[in-house]
This record gives sequence, structure tokens and C-alpha cells, in this order.
Amino acid sequence: MNADVRCPGSLAELWPLLEDGFAVMAGGTDLLARRGAPGRVACLERIAGLQGIREEEGLLRMGACETHSRLLRHPLTASGLPVLARALSVLGSPLVRNMGTIGGNIVTASPAGDTLPPLYALDAVVELASRQGTRRVPLDGFILGPGRTALGEGEIVSAVLARIPAAGEVQHFEKVGRRKALAISVVSLAAVLRLDGSGTVASARLALGSVGPTVLRCPRAEAMLTGRRLDRETLLAVGETLREEISPIDDLRATAAYRRTVAGNLPLRLAV
Ligand SMILES: Cc1cc2nc3c(=O)[nH]c(=O)nc-3n(C[C@H](O)[C@H](O)[C@H](O)COP(=O)(O)OP(=O)(O)OC[C@H]3O[C@@H](n4cnc5c(N)ncnc54)[C@H](O)[C@@H]3O)c2cc1C
Repeated sequence: MNADVRCPGSLAELWPLLEDGFAVMAGGTDLLARRGAPGRVACLERIAGLQGIREEEGLLRMGACETHSRLLRHPLTASGLPVLARALSVLGSPLVRNMGTIGGNIVTASPAGDTLPPLYALDAVVELASRQGTRRVPLDGFILGPGRTALGEGEIVSAVLARIPAAGEVQHFEKVGRRKALAISVVSLAAVLRLDGSGTVASARLALGSVGPTVLRCPRAEAMLTGRRLDRETLLAVGETLREEISPIDDLRATAAYRRTVAGNLPLRLAV
């Protein structure tokens, strides 16, 4: 197949290509692995408006084309969003992190996508851009199923915005894979908890990856944590509730039963 690869320098140059049927490519780590040699592809990497990491009204705004490596190195991610930084540090390999982008991870919409549980737990909002302007959609409304999003015709993801937790909130991410490095998750857990002065949980946000068709928030387990301390008894009970809330499947990486067991064990890491 003859490839027709364009690298527009601005959004204004991108829109006619999308209207002409060009596929969008950021780092290409998913697109090229899935499709092989590209046909008609518009690369996003030269569009300055899709880059940048900055604070905006209490939210961290991450341009869609920021790579996992750049996000990981950025002081605002490292200091403000350790739950996301931890997930980025175990995503793929250094090469994949250097090429892959946060926008690509979101649009791929894999229930095993490593940035997704932290972004769900941080109330992330996706900014979408098209010739008509921009709109914002909560991440959990944007991702509809494996590989399915609410991206409209002629739209791209321009940025993702995540709440920056207050100092002292507990942030945790853990991924269980089949091996230590370069492994897709079998189960992952992101937790963002606010504690009061006495160590009691004032609010809890839990999101699990690879245990359903999308990343799952766990409202019953969150409610159970709220008003309690992070002791072993509470976390064991939360783990049992998580096991009831999720709907894992058997696949080549793990059985549903194994995923259920591991998912219920992960909250024990939150013990203080
Ligand atoms: C060897 C290997 C290991 C991997 N390991 C992991 C892992 O451990 N964890 C993990 O989460 N992922 C992993 N991945 C998957 C992949 O690297 C990530 O999902 C990455 O974030 C995808 O980003 P990208 O920029 O390369 O996306 P691309 O491949 O460029 O695009 C992916 C999809 O998103 C669309 N797209 C990209 N950017 C935009 C945008 N801004 N707006 C609209 N649509 C867009 C593309 O059209 C395409 O459909 C791995 C991939 C490989 C090849």
C-alpha cells in the first residue's frame, strides 16, 4: 500500500485532512501495531496546540500529544499527580513511553490502558476539538467500551484535564501484570483518598482496570471506605465489596476468578 502521510503544523491545516478521510496518528504505538503500514495518515506531532502541561483553574491540563515520558518528567505531574506518574512509569517500555501519548492511550480506550484508572480517580475531563470549536466531556462518559469512544466525526482529543488533589490526599496506583516489565495489566487499581486530621477517610475514589469492558469506578467500596480508617479489617471488607462490583472476563492473560481475587487484595496496599 502507498502511504500518504501528512504532518500538519496547525489545527487549521488538520481539519481538511480529517474531512478527506485521513486517520489520526499521535505516537503510532497502537495504530501501527494494529493496522500495520498506514494508508492515509495525519500526524499530530507538529501541532503546538496539542502540547503543553500547565495548571488551569485547579486542574492540570495535559495536551493530548504529550508523551508518557514527558508527562512523567514534568514536575507538575510528579508532584501533583503521583497516582498518574506511577501509572506512567510502568506503562510499556521506555521506547513505548517515548513515542506513546496520553491522547492515544485515551482514544485506544482499552480497559487495560494504564493512564485510565488514575484519570478516572482524578475526575478527568476530556477536551475535544473540531473545526467548530472545543467541548469538554467527562472521561467516564467519553469512553464507551473497549476501543469505543464518544469522539465525533471530524473531532480529535486536544487535551485531558485532571483535578489536582489537595496536599496530603492519599494517591496510589498498582498494576499486576504477567511479568515485571512490558506487561499489559491483568488488574490495576488507582485510589485517591482524602483523610481528615484523625486519619478517617473523608472521601474515596477507586478505579479498577482490566476487570470490565471499561475502567470501573467502585461506588459501593468507596462508600464503605468513607468514615472509616485504613485498617486491615476495613480494607479486607472493601476488597470483598470490590470483588462483587466488578465483572472480569477470562482471557489469555488471566482467568476471571484470578482477576477477582487479585482485585480484592489490592486495597490492602492502602493500609497505614
Ligand atoms: C510493545 C507495546 C507495549 C505497550 N504497553 C502498554 C502498556 O503497558 N500500557 C498501556 O496502557 N498501553 C500500552 N501500549 C499501548 C500504547 O502504547 C498506548 O496506548 C499509547 O498511549 C498510545 O498512544 P499513541 O500516541 O502511540 O497512539 P496512536 O497509536 O498514535 O493512536 C492510537 C489511537 O488513538 C487515535 N488517536 C491518537 N491520538 C489522538 C487524538 N489526539 N485525538 C483523536 N484520536 C487520537 C488514533 O487514531 C488511534 O486510533 C503498548 C503498545 C506497544 C506497541
